[in-house]
Amino acid sequence: MNLILLFPDDFVSENRVRLTGRRLEHVMNVHRAAAGDVLTVGVVDGQLGRGVVLSLDPLELEVTLDRHPPPALPLTLVVALPRPKVLNRIVAATASMGVRRLCLINAWRVEKSYWSSPRLSPDNLRAQSILGIEQSRDTILPDITTHRFFRKFVEEELPPGDSRRLVAHPAATEPLPRNVSEHVTLVIGPEGGFIEAELASLDRAGFAAVTLGERILRTETAIAAAVGRMF
Ligand code: SAH
Repeated sequence: MNLILLFPDDFVSENRVRLTGRRLEHVMNVHRAAAGDVLTVGVVDGQLGRGVVLSLDPLELEVTLDRHPPPALPLTLVVALPRPKVLNRIVAATASMGVRRLCLINAWRVEKSYWSSPRLSPDNLRAQSILGIEQSRDTILPDITTHRFFRKFVEEELPPGDSRRLVAHPAATEPLPRNVSEHVTLVIGPEGGFIEAELASLDRAGFAAVTLGERILRTETAIAAAVGRMF
């Protein structure tokens, strides 16, 4: 928690907040805060700044909010729904990298049971996103959507707008581009990879298959490598 994320309910007056729950525990046990200490704070979907510890019991901070959060990545990330444990890591990691638009989609090799995981609940996706943005000192929560039908997603539901369309595929011959300046929509496949029919349907929708090299990476590693290489 490199940033204490604040919510409207935390404010007891215009520039004074009272912390409870996880954040209270973190500030007391990890920061071992004392009166007068200065912490980095940010209001969800708002500005960043500093919080001076006024009192410990209750834990109250006086906050000054004077900075914008870091810019978003110019990326829409589309990921074939991973196993639930991996889903949590991907949601937190992508939020920390500044991915503000994440589409979780079905694919032939996505196990059906993954779709009934409680980890797909809006509450859990939000909780994991919060962990990610607290990690990276951002305040903006990503927009995460789920799409149960691959073809429908590709043909009808893809977020509109000008965006360079790429699908990460180990067997592709073109390398994933470096230093991209335009907005990108990047598709990442399931653990077993996409089947030919899915690659063909992505190809028809203008997605160029690109590779990160001959090493087959785990989904979360492939995402981090792709983001690091493109932006
Ligand atoms: N068994 C699959 C690999 C799945 S890895 C296959 O051989 O195709 C899960 C996803 O991570 C892939 O669908 C791809 O989107 C991405 N990925 C992993 N390693 C990659 C690489 N070297 N190049 C491009 N994409 C990669």
